[in-house]
Amino acid sequence: MKAALEPIAVFSDFDGTVTTKDTTVLLLELFGNPAWLDIEERMLAGEISEAEGMSAEFALINTSWEEAIGAILNEIHLDSTFPGFIAWLGEAGVPITILSGGVEEISRGLLKKHGIEELEVYANRLHVENNRWTLIPSDRPKIKGLCNHCKTFSVLESQQAGYRTVYIGDGFTDRCPAGKADIIFAKDDLAAYCELNSIEFHCFRDFTDIRIQLERLISHIRFDKKITGKDA
Ligand SMILES: [Mg+2]
Repeated sequence: MKAALEPIAVFSDFDGTVTTKDTTVLLLELFGNPAWLDIEERMLAGEISEAEGMSAEFALINTSWEEAIGAILNEIHLDSTFPGFIAWLGEAGVPITILSGGVEEISRGLLKKHGIEELEVYANRLHVENNRWTLIPSDRPKIKGLCNHCKTFSVLESQQAGYRTVYIGDGFTDRCPAGKADIIFAKDDLAAYCELNSIEFHCFRDFTDIRIQLERLISHIRFDKKITGKDA
């Protein structure tokens, strides 16, 4: 019975999950050089850490911030079902936090373009000088120190505060936090990783899929507002 009373906290990756295309990949394709593909391969193979790989990839970008953010805002869109999803969570009193392996300034820029300004976003930061880019690792605490932004810390912190955690993601930096979360929604590379490692997960194509599946779970795992009885 205790599990049925636990509140829920939702965490979502940003690039390729909330967005239709990975913002870092677009920047590297437009303003980097092909060396990023080798770095990516070594990172995925575990030869170098995410912290080393992503920092090296950002160092390949050669453009101004204005040109880069202009291209991102023009070419990358949010999943059209995401605004409705966060509104639904808000009505249910369920907190959602974006945990991004990318750059906070970029994710906030895209969210703002779609009228979303109040969302909690944890990500890395950025320094651009004379068209040279430096990724500044997130100042959130890290568990192992292998990633610029340790997403897993936020999931564990929430669990320790008594929340049942939902994690939504699609890629490499989602593997570690998804392995710790209570309920996982995965697509693309993350879904393949979960399958390969026998990690139980739910498939999704968009946030409406997730909403429908969470609504089924509500009968077993109640949302905050139903626990307090204010809106039950
Ligand atoms: Mg992603």
